[in-house]
Amino acid sequence: MPAPVLLAPLLASFRHGFSLRSAQVPTDHTFEAPERAAALVAFRAATGLGAVRQTKQVHGATIVEGSASTEQTEADGLLSFPGGSAVGVRTADCVPILLADRVSGAVAAVHAGWRGVVAGIAPAAVAGLGSRPGSILAAIGPAIGPCCFEVGLEVVDALVDGGAMPEDRRFANGRSGAGKPLVDLRACVAFQLEKNGISKAAIALVGGCTYCDAQYHSFRRDGAASGRMLAAIAPNS
Ligand SMILES: [Zn+2]
Repeated sequence: MPAPVLLAPLLASFRHGFSLRSAQVPTDHTFEAPERAAALVAFRAATGLGAVRQTKQVHGATIVEGSASTEQTEADGLLSFPGGSAVGVRTADCVPILLADRVSGAVAAVHAGWRGVVAGIAPAAVAGLGSRPGSILAAIGPAIGPCCFEVGLEVVDALVDGGAMPEDRRFANGRSGAGKPLVDLRACVAFQLEKNGISKAAIALVGGCTYCDAQYHSFRRDGAASGRMLAAIAPNS
């Protein structure tokens, strides 16, 4: 049986992980119900994480403090500071981002679809950590890749207008068989992080394309029946 979790070597000093399809993370945002907690056992065993605080994801750019949120809180990014709980987001094609301050021990978990990227949710999480950019480490997890993420031209325009895509549109070079742009959304996130002072060396890409590879859930591939993967991290004290 394959390992149920991907880890980022860059974040080795933090308890964290990106679950794979095999970890059977529940599809909704409930995180404490006992019958669903059982589905998290494999993930918890592999990461050392306990309960993971999550929110109701709405493809926005709101960042909340995990300790002040509930599963009904509408937010796509959670912060947690030393002494706080583990925080996590669920994805299936969207980009999961884990941030960690190697000095303060604070962390963030972020769910970023293209709308969230346009709205600047990753930079908002960086700001929320209150860290020096030089102390932040970032792991960008499995998401639909530039091989498969076909979008309308208006999405590329929105990414450029939102400062998430360079003017030369180099993260939208490819064209699908239908002639539509193919976008590298993870590169857009990395570009935003670098613009906010995080060095390339402090940004890790973890895993591959969710659509291509059956070890991941993919909403585009599997539709409404798709499950979700959990990306979670706990602060250091
Ligand atoms: Zn692909």
